[in-house]
Amino acid sequence: MESAARGKSGPGDRVTEFLDQISGAGGEYRRLIERLPAIVYSCEVGEQGRWRYVSPQIEDILGYSPEEWIADPSLWARQLHSGDRDRVLEVEAGHSPSQRYAPPIDYRMITHDGDVVWILDEAVLEPDERGTPVWHGVLYDITERKHAEQELRRGAAQQAAVARLGRHALQHGDPGALMVEAVELMTEIDGVEAACIWEVDEDGRRLLLRAGLERSAAIVEGSMSAGRDSHAGAALDSGLHVIVDDWRSERRFALPGVLGTAGVRSSLAVSIDGKDRPFGVLDIHSTEPSRFTPQDVHFVQASANVVADALERHTADQALRHRVLHDSLTGLPNRISFVDSLNDALTRASVAGTPVGVLFFDLDHFKLINDSIGHHAGDELLRSVASRLRNHLRPGDVVARFGGDEFGILVDRLADEDEAIAIANRVADAFAKPYLIGGAEHFISASVGIAIARPTSGDSGDADLLIRDADAAMYRAKERGRARCELFDVEMQERAVRRLQTERELGHAIERDELRLHYQPVVELASGEIVGLEALVRWRHSERGMLDPGEFVSIAEESGLIEPIGRWVQESACRQVLEWQGLRPGRRPLDISVNLSARQVARRDLATSVAEILDRTGLEPGRLRLEITESILVEESASATATLEDLSKLGVRLVLDDFGTGYSSLAYLNRFPFDALKIDRSFIDGLGVEQGRTAIVEAVIGMARALSLDAIAEGVENETQLAELRRLGCDYAQGHLFARALPAERLTQLVRDGGLELLGDPAR
Ligand code: C2E
Ligand code: MG
Ligand code: MG
Repeated sequence: MESAARGKSGPGDRVTEFLDQISGAGGEYRRLIERLPAIVYSCEVGEQGRWRYVSPQIEDILGYSPEEWIADPSLWARQLHSGDRDRVLEVEAGHSPSQRYAPPIDYRMITHDGDVVWILDEAVLEPDERGTPVWHGVLYDITERKHAEQELRRGAAQQAAVARLGRHALQHGDPGALMVEAVELMTEIDGVEAACIWEVDEDGRRLLLRAGLERSAAIVEGSMSAGRDSHAGAALDSGLHVIVDDWRSERRFALPGVLGTAGVRSSLAVSIDGKDRPFGVLDIHSTEPSRFTPQDVHFVQASANVVADALERHTADQALRHRVLHDSLTGLPNRISFVDSLNDALTRASVAGTPVGVLFFDLDHFKLINDSIGHHAGDELLRSVASRLRNHLRPGDVVARFGGDEFGILVDRLADEDEAIAIANRVADAFAKPYLIGGAEHFISASVGIAIARPTSGDSGDADLLIRDADAAMYRAKERGRARCELFDVEMQERAVRRLQTERELGHAIERDELRLHYQPVVELASGEIVGLEALVRWRHSERGMLDPGEFVSIAEESGLIEPIGRWVQESACRQVLEWQGLRPGRRPLDISVNLSARQVARRDLATSVAEILDRTGLEPGRLRLEITESILVEESASATATLEDLSKLGVRLVLDDFGTGYSSLAYLNRFPFDALKIDRSFIDGLGVEQGRTAIVEAVIGMARALSLDAIAEGVENETQLAELRRLGCDYAQGHLFARALPAERLTQLVRDGGLELLGDPAR
């Protein structure tokens, strides 16, 4: 405490020096003293100590004349601020008379007019000639400095509050919680007794209380909102701050009911701005009038900006979340969100013990409709289907679009299978009435598969598996003629299990050397010569024997195994045909045909991989024919086009397989670089017997000729068919009439003994 006085030049020294000069210089210095911005005094010790001198500045600072002050010795102690009085008197009483220096002390005093003034009191104690200890000191008015310090502290506290609010906003995404936090932080600031956040309602007519003032709001019914004519409304409209200094004399704005209840005297409102439109208003209040300064405006605005940013981010997050979980065309949940809901439902069901059903919907012949009425109309149709599906469901059920023309419906809490079928039938009603698309009516039907799970407490089941089951049941519905609904059953279950098993085993088929190629000869009809062979894959399964592609190719396609299998097929077939070529030198080189799946064609690196195989084996590109099923093109024409172009550039021949089973038109065919068409077996079947079929084959062959494509007939089984094909001018043929697909060893033998050549003549 005394250190200040003991230093080189403490305030005590200054006062002493000053007083020495006064006493030494008489009247000269009196004028000097009286110009100082401080009160100079000397007074006897003690609470009631007599004041011997006080300079006239006391009038400016405390509002008393020196005479008044000196006349009443108790005045000083009386005018001490009640909050400081005890402390100050204690220090004064505790000062030892033998000590000259007293540490400076600051305290508040009440002026004559009742205002509060901050005083810094610096004095030294010296006995007078008679030995009475007397204070000689100076009282400085430090009110401004004190206020500045207070403002600084308040500012720092406010900055900290904004920083904390910002951190909260980053850590917790929930805007509701952030608003509560913001309101609480506001009220931690000195002089802010209450705070609240108003949000503009949907039609923009009122402001609704979103956070703060809960207790007051609970008292008066209907006080949860404020009108646009309130100060908050004005802040919202102007985007500026609005200060109400005293609600008692306020004439501009209507007082919101809740503020009246809370006893608010002054308020400060700033708008919380959103990117597109203001969100609402942050409003702070005091029970004292004129409580808010321009500095408070900055603080409240900064806090409002933090809230605004968080709201903006939340809205963006929500929008993103919605995009991730919804189908943009129909606005329905997508497959991801369907699986989420299904998992939740399964977990709930495992506790409640009620079954959960999944309905898998697939529109019938949607591609045909889409192609014939155009994509925009197709989209419109999907949207109408989506809204009809939604309208035919119970409130708790979920309908999602899986993609394309596939929809899923989740029925929570089923009673039994019959209920699921009843729901499927009710949903089928959605298709009973025609759809009005592009001014025309279209009837559309759907095939529906149903799968039901009965989760138990130990096993809540697997959402993906359930959807897969429903999908399998939907396929059954398609197989059985479409526009119907099938329940996933034990047989399908077994098939599904077998499929899974097959998929696992197929994964090892190449390394275990279980794949084989059979070859079917292709005959040139004009000469009867064998000009090529089609490689057809087989799987020599260790338990199930020799399997046809029908039993595993679709599994290989779905699992992606078709890619390594396909590469193996291509390489083996190329090597094989070169080997046979070597066995019949001087003869016309044989072509080799290999089949491709959609998945292979979809890969952009297919041409590269084929080029590598040609390189490795040394087969001339023109000898390789790649067969592509027509339906692939219909489904993924965009990516397929580029791949086919690349293959064509390699010099490889492209054959359109199973022609007639897809929907390709002449114009469409022109877009792809094909060399040959292979007419599907189903058309050859009726050849020469059914007039319609014959006419189609005739047209196809004519078309092939017009497009300079070779025509190949597959599945030729009898002489009638052969005769017809010859008559119609078909170029090539293959089928049981000439030869089945034969194992490689059998063909090697035929090549060796010259038997291959004879196969081209069925009459041999
Ligand atoms: P595809 O390319 O249309 O092959 C013709 C199918 O018809 C072959 O069946 C063949 O054995 C059979 N076939 C040939 N002549 C006759 C006949 O006169 N009458 C009858 N009823 N059938 C005949 P396979 O070998 O079972 O192959 C079925 C399909 O599997 C093939 O149809 C092809 O799409 C696919 N496939 C075969 N091998 C492969 C392959 O290595 N990769 C890919 N991706 N698919 C393959
Ligand atoms: Mg083929
Ligand atoms: Mg075919």
